[in-house]
Amino acid sequence: SLQRDDNSTTDTGSGQSFKGHGMLAPFTPGWQIADVNPLVIEKSEGTYLYDINGKKYLDSLAGLWSTSLGGSEARLVAAATEQLKTLPFYHSFWNRTTKPSLELTKEILEMFTARKMGKVFFANSGSEANDSQVKLVWYYNNALGRPKKKKIISRLKGYHGSTLIAASLTGIPALHQQFDLPVPFVLHTDCPHFWRYHLPGETEEEFSTRLANNLENLILKEGPETVAAFIAEPVIGSGGVILPPATYFDKVQAVLKKYDVLFIADEVICGFGRLGTMFGCDKYNIKPDLVSIAKALSSAYIPIGGVLVSPEVSDVIHSQSNKLGNFAHGFTYSGHPVACAVALETLKIYKERNILEVVNNLAPRFQDGIKAYQNSPIIGEIRGIGLISGTEFTDNKSPNTPFPTEWGVAAYFGEVCEKYGMLVRVSGDTITMSPPFCITPEEIDEIIRIYGKALKDTEQRVKELKSQQK
Ligand code: PLP
Repeated sequence: SLQRDDNSTTDTGSGQSFKGHGMLAPFTPGWQIADVNPLVIEKSEGTYLYDINGKKYLDSLAGLWSTSLGGSEARLVAAATEQLKTLPFYHSFWNRTTKPSLELTKEILEMFTARKMGKVFFANSGSEANDSQVKLVWYYNNALGRPKKKKIISRLKGYHGSTLIAASLTGIPALHQQFDLPVPFVLHTDCPHFWRYHLPGETEEEFSTRLANNLENLILKEGPETVAAFIAEPVIGSGGVILPPATYFDKVQAVLKKYDVLFIADEVICGFGRLGTMFGCDKYNIKPDLVSIAKALSSAYIPIGGVLVSPEVSDVIHSQSNKLGNFAHGFTYSGHPVACAVALETLKIYKERNILEVVNNLAPRFQDGIKAYQNSPIIGEIRGIGLISGTEFTDNKSPNTPFPTEWGVAAYFGEVCEKYGMLVRVSGDTITMSPPFCITPEEIDEIIRIYGKALKDTEQRVKELKSQQK
């Protein structure tokens, strides 16, 4: 594993050490906590972050694909403050609720135009939204007298969160290993990554046909009467920014329709402008039955997630809850008024600033700037759309000749970026970026400049490692 003692930022300057701190930190190996100082971020300003030594970083990932309006949006602070003064908390149980949650519901339903949606359920995160999806789907099928129709299909490399069910839906082995996951009712189908998985001579369309056929065969093998839903991110994010191949979602949707399998669109990253459309569903002509949202819903200033439910599904849920006397699902903080007030203001800002135009104006500069490095001998593929990008490192430009894992090529690239003042995400052999929408053209140029410098250093590093190997 790659030690990062060389750039442990909190050892210097402030003199503070947090080695061996007491937080069981998410997605962090124990040795890092024991041996290495964490990077401690103290302040944000627009597209930039500052650590406790005052070192400045371009936040190329917008936190975790989330801080869409950047780190110093005073209106969101004001919205939170106002709401805290007026009504810091009230719940939404038993037909008692609050104005911000009702107003946000209305706004979300108006904003989602890929198809008409009926209801919104509020959660506090993407994981809670996706867990709620499964419960909604089960409740729906129980109400319809189809108790066997419960299995959920997701895709390899998809990311849907880390609670028990969301981690099961996720198609990444690390989230399953040692956790006894996935649960048995979750099945995984192909990752739609054309570059990596297409057969020799196969076109994107043919690849999509093959994957749709595989999906159909899986449904038939399991029995359509047992398969309830399919969940997918329009563009896979954490799995490495993987765009759907041409005609993929058309063909998948045709299969799902044939077997009465619901489509759950996980818009936790794609939603609210990231791809240059308000939702990923708009980009790929997806007509989902259910939609998960979070992250950019509040520009990550405060936790909030949600589920959009189609009228067909919500009608069944309502009639069943009338029969049972209750719809027994929800969280203390479902529709938290402060979170809803911040989200409402976020959506207002998206509209006022015409966020789609902003993203579409910036996207070519960002995408073309990064893709200019496509010929690097250590890059296999650069992928992206709108303001999301992934770079996969591999030898010989081939998906079949990865660099040795112990070389940590992508991790090295990430470290060098950090040294040069930019934070990227490293996942396996891929680095990913998704800058805030408030990024300026000059800041995009700065991303590209640091990326280029880090790439040069990484190429040199690979050259050294190769010569040592000989
Ligand atoms: N779905 C997608 C597509 C995500 O990217 C994420 C988080 O990155 C989640 C769900 C889980 O969201 P959370 O971390 O808020 O639980």
